[in-house]
Amino acid sequence: MKNLKRIGKIALCKCPLSHKTYGVRFEKVGKAWKYDWAFRISLQAASREHYDETKLVGKVVMDNKYPGCPYCKAIGFIICDCGHLNCYNIKGDRFMCEWCKQEGILGGEYTGSGFASGGDL
Ligand SMILES: [Zn+2]
Ligand SMILES: [Zn+2]
Repeated sequence: MKNLKRIGKIALCKCPLSHKTYGVRFEKVGKAWKYDWAFRISLQAASREHYDETKLVGKVVMDNKYPGCPYCKAIGFIICDCGHLNCYNIKGDRFMCEWCKQEGILGGEYTGSGFASGGDL
């Protein structure tokens, strides 16, 4: 059955291994956001598309066909306090956000408080 109320959003993610950017497609499923696609995009192109204008609030869940980061194949994210996504591909429990360059210690589950997104599909 086709759901006519599909809401899609694109959020940008930075890959700490390659220092490159990609877009992740999220689709609203109930109260959560399911991510099912990732594609390479430059930061310049992304800002033209306004992929950072809105906030995506709620829990995120992975679709089992999600291909992973186009660069390092990570299938999870670290959502920084600054509201941006990084690949979850680090070993150990410290990471540095590719967006705000803040170092942090991993811990606790993402609360669903929101991160930057945009571009209704
Ligand atoms: Zn990556
Ligand atoms: Zn950050």
